[in-house]
Amino acid sequence: MVAVDNLVTGSRANVAHLVDNAAFTLLERDVSQPLQIDGPVDFVLHFASPASPIDFPSMPIQIVKVGTLGTYHMLGLALAKGAAFLLASTSEVYGDPLVHPQPESYWGNVNPIGPRGCYDEAKRCAEAFTMAYNRAHGVDTRIMRIFNTYGSRMRTDDGRVIPNYFRQALTGEPMTVYGDGSQTRSLCHVDDLVTGALAVLDGPDPMPFNIGSQEEVTMLELATIVKRVTGSSSEIVFGPLPEDDPKQRRPDTTRAREILGWEPTISMEEGLARACDYFESALSVKR
Ligand code: UDP
Repeated sequence: MVAVDNLVTGSRANVAHLVDNAAFTLLERDVSQPLQIDGPVDFVLHFASPASPIDFPSMPIQIVKVGTLGTYHMLGLALAKGAAFLLASTSEVYGDPLVHPQPESYWGNVNPIGPRGCYDEAKRCAEAFTMAYNRAHGVDTRIMRIFNTYGSRMRTDDGRVIPNYFRQALTGEPMTVYGDGSQTRSLCHVDDLVTGALAVLDGPDPMPFNIGSQEEVTMLELATIVKRVTGSSSEIVFGPLPEDDPKQRRPDTTRAREILGWEPTISMEEGLARACDYFESALSVKR
């Protein structure tokens, strides 16, 4: 297995347990540049991209490039090697959705020129590239649309809601709810996401599959749940709502359930308990 990462948001520590494995290689490269891999390749799994909204203003050009040029290079690699290709796409292709919950047939409501445009439109282009290589070159492609996911190995300063709430709750800082906290998300534990990715890769169908949780919560409810799970006495404070922040998000996962037999198995309560253990150890705090 060759992992390719320029570590712009990743870290060597995340694969430290694999470095002694002779079957594993970490290549510190940016897939936005052309990439050659020696020998046979069976599968290309294209997950590269910063994905936290706090990364969007600081590296918008890299994000557009990895979604477009990076996808082009990885599809080229799959074509050259006769490999199957999996694109990690995103619920952001639906933008601030006007249809709820979101089925794969919904085309979305994306602002191309707003602060999230670099990520959303690059991923939409990545899907278009993937379907083009499927149709024009017969590459065996798959697309998964990943909804909000959390769990072990997230950056504690990632800026997304789960790392923020846990860091704040565990260190006694105020917990920052943006807007009035009525916006919703459905949070999938990373272990379920991984089984979902493998199910999509194994699946029969190049059309997109939503992979995510059905348990939808408001961001204010989530703050109170994290506060309870951590036993924190942090106060909950309200801050400005970021521009173009989607108001509601929950996947319609009927296709994944019916075609792949996949559904999440880890409840939010269980997933947040596991996340609590991880963030405690990552932040070296004791409750
Ligand atoms: N959010 C929040 N407080 C935080 C971080 C995020 O209320 O400290 C909200 C954010 O406004 C959004 C939701 O939580 O409505 C999820 O944000 P995140 O950045 O995790 O991912 P998104 O789904 O927006 O890409």
